[in-house]
Order: sequence, then C-alpha cells, then structure tokens
Amino acid sequence: MIDAVTRLSAVKTNIAQAEREANRAAGAVTLVAVSKTFEAHEIRPVIEAGQRVFGENRVQEAQGKWPALREAFPDLELHLIGPLQSNKAKEAVALFDVIETVDREKIAAALAKEIAAQGKAPKLYVQVNTGLEDQKAGIDPREAVAFVQRCRDVHGLAIEGLMAIPPFDENPGPHFALLEKLAREAGVEKLSMGMSGDYETAIAFGATSVRVGSAIFGSR
Ligand SMILES: *Cc1c(COP(=O)(O)O)cnc(C)c1O
Repeated sequence: MIDAVTRLSAVKTNIAQAEREANRAAGAVTLVAVSKTFEAHEIRPVIEAGQRVFGENRVQEAQGKWPALREAFPDLELHLIGPLQSNKAKEAVALFDVIETVDREKIAAALAKEIAAQGKAPKLYVQVNTGLEDQKAGIDPREAVAFVQRCRDVHGLAIEGLMAIPPFDENPGPHFALLEKLAREAGVEKLSMGMSGDYETAIAFGATSVRVGSAIFGSR
C-alpha cells in the first residue's frame, strides 16, 4: 500500500526536480502539506517523516487537531489557506503562523485589531481571485496592488505575499504569471501557488510555496 509518507517523499523529489528545471535554488520552494479533512493520527506520521509546514482551510477544524500536535512538535508552521470570516480573526491570529487569505478591508481591519491585542503577528498574504470567479474568495486582480498598499498604509499590516487558486478547468500558467506580475508590482516576495495537479508548473512560474494535499494524504 502506498502511504502518505511514501507520497510525501515523491512530492519532495518532484519539487526538487522542478526547482532544477526552472533554474531555481535547491530549497527555494516551501512545501505546505494540506491536511484538511485528515485527522491527527493520519497527519502525525507525515510530521514524524520530517514535514513541518501544514495548511488547513477551516479555523475551527484546525483548532480541533493542531494544538495537541503543536505541543508534541513545537517547530511546526501552520498556514490558513481557506476563507477567513472577521468573527474568526481572533482564533486565526492565535493559531496560525501564516494567514494566506486576506482579501478585503474588513478582514484587514479585524486582523490589525487582533495583532495589536495579542501581541502576535502571523505573516500575511493577500488572496487574489485571478480568474474573477464569483464563487471564489480573493480580491479582484485589478485591485490587488492598491489593496496591498492599503493594508500597509491604513491598517499597518506587513503583507509578505500573494496567494491564488486558478480556475480548476483552465490552464493555470497564465494565472500563475499574473500573480507573479502582481507580486512584483506590489513589492511582495512570497508567491503561494500550485496544488497537487499543477505544483511543478507553479514552480516554473516562480512559486515560493506550493500547497499540496491529495498528492500526499490521498483523496478526500
Ligand atoms: C485543498 C486546498 C489545496 C490542496 O489541494 P490538492 O488538490 O488536494 O492538493 C490547496 N489550496 C487550497 C486553498 C485548498 O483549499
């Protein structure tokens, strides 16, 4: 049986190869293992195999399983990759090291308030809806650069990166290229793009982290 640890190792090999093919430095790309819907006992072997960075898309689900794992493995890094409601900003700031889904003024304000209150500042990325899909979170790409600037100037937030989820039925390359261009214009360094089906492509377009779930943990 192929287990998550075997698949993790294959994904890491593929990332290393994609880095070489894109003339990127070895280790330039961070693997965010997306563990949503999987339980602590399924995640633990992957941590024991050396993986330290994980992504979850729901605050409440993450609160149920990560505090105990963090106690056992203090050097874990947890990313929020799902939509954030402003009434969950407090919990999100308390639990996550990176919040990748800042996409509107109200969230920026709520995060700024919580960061001040808790004296703890997760790293923040702005999510961009590169495909302008109605059902998808993320800011309109035409407003993204100005929004990053407002996060800085109005809310005092240090935005470090951009994140996108291209439409699932389109060639992702143009979406990755757009995100890379917006990051340059906005002056941010981190690019979170690429999932199980397209992470090698995302690395060719400059991803600094890829969010890989099913290729590691199996289908959900
Ligand atoms: C679930 C999810 C992923 C991982 O998707 P896979 O196709 O399973 O790799 C990546 N990014 C986000 C935002 C997700 O919600």
